[in-house]
Amino acid sequence: MSTCISKEVSCPVCGAVNKKQMWTGIDIQANPELRLRVLNETLFDWKCPACGYDAQLLYPCLYHDKERRFLLCISPAGSSGQAAVADAVQKYPQAASVKKRIVSSLCEMKEKVLLFEAGLDDVPAEVVKFALAELVEKKRGRKVHSGFFCAAAQDEDYIGFTFFLEGLEQPITQGTRLSVYSEALKIVQSTGYREDGSFLRVDRALAQRLLEEYQE
Ligand SMILES: [Zn+2]
Repeated sequence: MSTCISKEVSCPVCGAVNKKQMWTGIDIQANPELRLRVLNETLFDWKCPACGYDAQLLYPCLYHDKERRFLLCISPAGSSGQAAVADAVQKYPQAASVKKRIVSSLCEMKEKVLLFEAGLDDVPAEVVKFALAELVEKKRGRKVHSGFFCAAAQDEDYIGFTFFLEGLEQPITQGTRLSVYSEALKIVQSTGYREDGSFLRVDRALAQRLLEEYQE
């Protein structure tokens, strides 16, 4: 079952106070339309009924896919985010058969959904993304500030990522062969990294740490 709460939100532009419905728990088997709102990045869209100002209003939210066995907890910076993670940990005790992740934004949540639905693991995917980001930085001479998995195709032997570069408005796509992902999986396994069933952050910092351990 999904959980929706109603909260008062004051508009940062005109100051009007209005009630807003917030999805704090998403069960995508019960509410498949909410999965689509994650994938088209509209889940947190908010429009002030008084002045028409629109923005994304990020709040803690737990995404649950029971069939594919994964849980994603959006934990915005600050105390509400920390409380959301503590709640999720209490509600879903450690279980190695369920992937549990903490993410900071809707883009990161979407990325995890796409990866897990494609049957891929996000840990080797982060390693591939880390390596491709370095390649893109060398090629373009600009720093990558974020990157996200976008697609994989077995028949085309392809895995692709979208990268946002400093000073460039439009993101660029960089892909590689799926065999690179398989190599990354071997690297991850060789470091002894194991999923322990707790809520984890799987991000660039983890990829960097695993690559350093591998090189040692
Ligand atoms: Zn307003």
